[in-house]
Amino acid sequence: MKHHNAGCGGHDDPTQTLQEALARIAAEIEPAEGFESVATRDALDRVLYAPIHSTIDVPAYTNSAMDGYALDGAQLPAEGERAFRVIGTAWAGRPFDGTAGPGECVRIMTGAPVPAGTDTVVMQEQVRREGDDAYIDARHRPGQNLRPAGEDLKAGEIALDEGVLLRPAHLGMIASLGLSEVRVRRRPRVAFFSTGDELASIGETLGPGQIYDSNRYTLYGMLRRLGVEVIDLGVVRDNREDLEQAFLAAAAQADVVITSGGVSVGEADFVTETLDRIGEVGFWTVAIKPGRPIAFGRVAGALFFGLPGNPVSAMVTFYQLVQPALQRLKGVAVPEAPAMVRATLASRLKKKPGRRDFQRGILSVAADGEYRVEVAGRQGSGILRSMARANCFIVLAENCGALEPGEEVSVQPFAGLC
Ligand code: AMP
Ligand code: MG
Repeated sequence: MKHHNAGCGGHDDPTQTLQEALARIAAEIEPAEGFESVATRDALDRVLYAPIHSTIDVPAYTNSAMDGYALDGAQLPAEGERAFRVIGTAWAGRPFDGTAGPGECVRIMTGAPVPAGTDTVVMQEQVRREGDDAYIDARHRPGQNLRPAGEDLKAGEIALDEGVLLRPAHLGMIASLGLSEVRVRRRPRVAFFSTGDELASIGETLGPGQIYDSNRYTLYGMLRRLGVEVIDLGVVRDNREDLEQAFLAAAAQADVVITSGGVSVGEADFVTETLDRIGEVGFWTVAIKPGRPIAFGRVAGALFFGLPGNPVSAMVTFYQLVQPALQRLKGVAVPEAPAMVRATLASRLKKKPGRRDFQRGILSVAADGEYRVEVAGRQGSGILRSMARANCFIVLAENCGALEPGEEVSVQPFAGLC
């Protein structure tokens, strides 16, 4: 990471694109070390520490995929119909323990083990039943309608790779192997604080010129949803000494330090300068709107993100830059790319070429089944209300200008994070 004489005016590289910034951040991050064993259910949204090998075949025995009749495929008629005597019933969880001989079949339910002497299931809708006889015609194949042992997984095979972010489907797989515990990576610890002489915390009375600190709540919410350990260090005032102390205290207990406010070039913006003095500055501008500038670097072994103070800017930069970084730090082997959909614009959009713009939008499905998106109110970077109404970002590329209703745009659904 390069050293910069930051905080003295002048931008690091105002043309650095989001993609370039993401690549630089990714190059700096290794998964946080350590793991713990947790109960299978508690592994939801955690990251698998080591591959899981199957100790059993899944399914453990060949079973029926249908409700029907099990028989020996070699006995199927080549033409016309043949009667098979029904000699019993096989249920899921209650196997039939006899053996079917020539001209015999067994009534079988879905999931029941295939009885001895049979290797084929004919679905019940295709069988004519008369008393104890089942009449079966010539349209069937030997071996049909079975789920072979080990079809899903064979004993010894890798069931799940390390670095998988465990979703409900994965919990099901783990359970299907009979595992009650699973080793997951340690959650990264993220400490954050707000900076600003004007900030009051909820519960305090607002003095003249004060506003309530909202960034600590939006950041808390997004961090919780990302499944990291959250350490809230409150509000820090705009002076070098307090900031320096807070930086060091945060870095001592966390893998990542996140601040909001104080990263521009105003008289009271000391964050980048402090980072430069006691840590390392990687960059402090990215060509996105809202959100420039944002500081990225390291302090005392911890990763550092200095987000802008404006409430919407803080959320946008978190979503676009911090979220992918935390995925990596969690050890997710293949970080999920943010979902993008194409939608027809229902509003006019203002935009100047230059930066990648994330406008707050409301995505919906129109009567014709197509996606449409409208602007979620005023777009100022301090207007949290449009963020609260929105369910997506309308993503406008760097070179794009103003847009008219009816044009197609790319939309990034919040997907539960914002
Ligand atoms: P700054 O980035 O410190 O220059 O702040 C930019 C704007 O965001 C100012 O209007 C601040 O008052 C506001 N702001 C900064 N931090 C917060 C916060 N934690 N909650 C709400 N607004 C904030
Ligand atoms: Mg400030």
